[in-house]
Amino acid sequence: MAWACAALSSIGFAWGGDEPPFELVEAAPGFFVHVGRHEETSRANLGDIANIGFVVGERCVAVIDTGGSLAVGQALAAAVRRRTDRPVCYVINTHMHPDHVFGNAAFAGGGTRFVGAASLPEALAARAGHYEARLADALGDAAAGSRVVTPDLLVDDRLRLDLGGRTLVLQRWPTAHTNNDLTVFDEASGTLWLGDLLFEERIPSVDGSIKGWIEVDARLRELPVSRVVPGHGRIAPPWPATLDAQSRYLGRVVTRVREAIAAGKTLGETVDAADPADAKGWALADAYHRRNLTAAYAELEWE
Ligand SMILES: [Zn+2]
Repeated sequence: MAWACAALSSIGFAWGGDEPPFELVEAAPGFFVHVGRHEETSRANLGDIANIGFVVGERCVAVIDTGGSLAVGQALAAAVRRRTDRPVCYVINTHMHPDHVFGNAAFAGGGTRFVGAASLPEALAARAGHYEARLADALGDAAAGSRVVTPDLLVDDRLRLDLGGRTLVLQRWPTAHTNNDLTVFDEASGTLWLGDLLFEERIPSVDGSIKGWIEVDARLRELPVSRVVPGHGRIAPPWPATLDAQSRYLGRVVTRVREAIAAGKTLGETVDAADPADAKGWALADAYHRRNLTAAYAELEWE
């Protein structure tokens, strides 16, 4: 479905200090998205590098991902309060990565339920110490208060959340970007929040299974949706062309690594032979293309 940018309404407000305004876009009626930057987490961006947002029902609000620090979560909480006085009944985490979960603490302490894939608590427990140490390195004092909040409402396969006159359908997927990927479908608007199952502009990063991700891509392609929200990239990018671009990149990595393994190349030789052309056009390719080759090699050498 074509999407008219003119229909988007944009709200900006300063979220304190010297930080840039916290922009919010109403992607569909009552469905708000804040678009993260294509950068690594830093003191300057406070981990505001992933797409985060919220959906407003007649009874309450569901937040989807919370950003890479308490500060980003607080900015999102303030944005919710500016739009509605209804309570936040759910915080949904699409997966474990720090740029999507470290703002959770801004919503803790009330009656809010934290929702994630059934495999998310274990994955977070295994990584929490590492994630917190890395955030402290990147943000210094500004990391204070950012912490992992473990989900208490888990999704085995599918879960419907009633926000009052508006239902979100959460779907857990086989291991792809991670082993705890969850999507959120807003029935009212036909909008599918894909989290990091879809990257646009920013290079995809493999932290689960590259073969699994390609298979999930093929299933996502068949879904009847009006628009999608990627974990990184523009709101409502061309669909399924954006998904196809991601699949092509992942497929190219698989092909390169299979050829290298067949030729008897080691992991190091395979990564050193990385062809920049394979990742051409993706933001942050320098930081992630070689890592993707590494992850793919570890997975594919046992085929
Ligand atoms: Zn991710």
